[in-house]
Amino acid sequence: MASKFYSIFALKCPTCHRGDLFSTPSFSFREPFAQYTHCPACAQPYFPEPGFYYGAMFISYIGSGFFCLGVVMFLRWVLDWSMFASFAALLAIVAILFVWWFRVARSAYLNLVYGFKPEVAAAVDAGKLEVAPPKTVNHT
Ligand SMILES: [Zn+2]
Repeated sequence: MASKFYSIFALKCPTCHRGDLFSTPSFSFREPFAQYTHCPACAQPYFPEPGFYYGAMFISYIGSGFFCLGVVMFLRWVLDWSMFASFAALLAIVAILFVWWFRVARSAYLNLVYGFKPEVAAAVDAGKLEVAPPKTVNHT
């Protein structure tokens, strides 16, 4: 369970894998870009420097580019859909996954920089850390 894969896709803190990165569920579409300033469980900063998430845009761009290509190729060539129907379906899929993918890209970028620390996770589980409640911010 203590893997980067878990942290990235469960949108958990890269350091302790306990605290959430975002204050609302991805598919609730409420406050889609409101991210905590730090981990509510272990106080790991989520905004270590101004413009930190600039790199996450490249992860998002590369991932979504190949995803869109794959979806349209599948619909056109495997299911033999028309070009219009393929792109209409793609737009619907992308509209649904947009917030989630934005968050996964940020989570992946945060996981590139920070790694899992078992001792921090153990301290969180034992209730040894006192962390101020995080604020949420809507910017990079
Ligand atoms: Zn944490």
